[in-house]
Amino acid sequence: MVSGPGCPICVTANADLDKAIALSQIPGVIITTFGDMLKVPGSRSSLQKAKAEGAEVQTVYSTMDALEIAEDNPDSSVVFLGIGFETTAPTIAASILQAEEKGIKNYYVLSLHKLCPPVIRALIDSGEVELQGLVCPGHVSAIIGSHPWEFIAADYGIPCVVSGFEPLDILQCVDMLVEQVEKGQSRVEIAYRRGVRPEGNRQALELMERVFEPCPARWRGIGVVADSGLKLRDKYQSFDAEANFEFEPGAAVEPAGCICGDILRGVKTPDDCRLFGKACTPENPVGPCMVSAEGSCSAHYLYGGGIGG
Ligand code: SF4
Repeated sequence: MVSGPGCPICVTANADLDKAIALSQIPGVIITTFGDMLKVPGSRSSLQKAKAEGAEVQTVYSTMDALEIAEDNPDSSVVFLGIGFETTAPTIAASILQAEEKGIKNYYVLSLHKLCPPVIRALIDSGEVELQGLVCPGHVSAIIGSHPWEFIAADYGIPCVVSGFEPLDILQCVDMLVEQVEKGQSRVEIAYRRGVRPEGNRQALELMERVFEPCPARWRGIGVVADSGLKLRDKYQSFDAEANFEFEPGAAVEPAGCICGDILRGVKTPDDCRLFGKACTPENPVGPCMVSAEGSCSAHYLYGGGIGG
């Protein structure tokens, strides 16, 4: 059994991280982002290094903080890095609508969002991993509901259970999956009833739908998956960083020896990486899976009984 497609930072391909770093080099641009992003290594640098070298990079706790920075710095262009799953897209959509309402003209979003159900289909279709059951992510499902997972049970005969993140949630989820497997069933169930409704959060979905439309997206280790990303609709092009700035991120290069892509596809584990716990640690991450607290390598290092556990 495997869980959802990992953490959003980990699945963001270097080609996309490089865009953020290239944008930070443009004079007058202030990059705003959540803190975890700073240490993530791109092909040649990171936002942390760019900041140390003089780029304007500011950590924020919400998109509304980024909007405030835009209002306070009318002579600069403020770019928010839209990295995340369906969980973060609604708040970013809300920030764009608010910028429009307030007439803020120097706020932009680099939309690198990822949508989970299409990439799960791509992973299953690849045939690389054999799934007996799927732990569907509770945070994503709180937005999209449980209906979007139904194709997995219906088309592939794989039991699905939406789980929360507490230890008891996971245990209950596994118990429900095992019961389906033992009974030869495949359907979508919700173990995380306190957070997820079958139809999802209608208000959040409406916000996303209003501002964004699906587009192809590049996933680390997986490649480009149709309709698995979000881009700004034409009506909101004036807020789209890619449409309004010229930048050249250069050719993407993966860190030598890093197997994050294989780990994200579920075909290898952190212990299979020869850099794990040696050249690559949470203090000196080589790949993105060691950066975020949600990353497989970081979690395995801290809690998995590996070198750091
Ligand atoms: S241990 Fe480091 S280098 Fe190896 S796969 Fe994980 S993040 Fe990449």
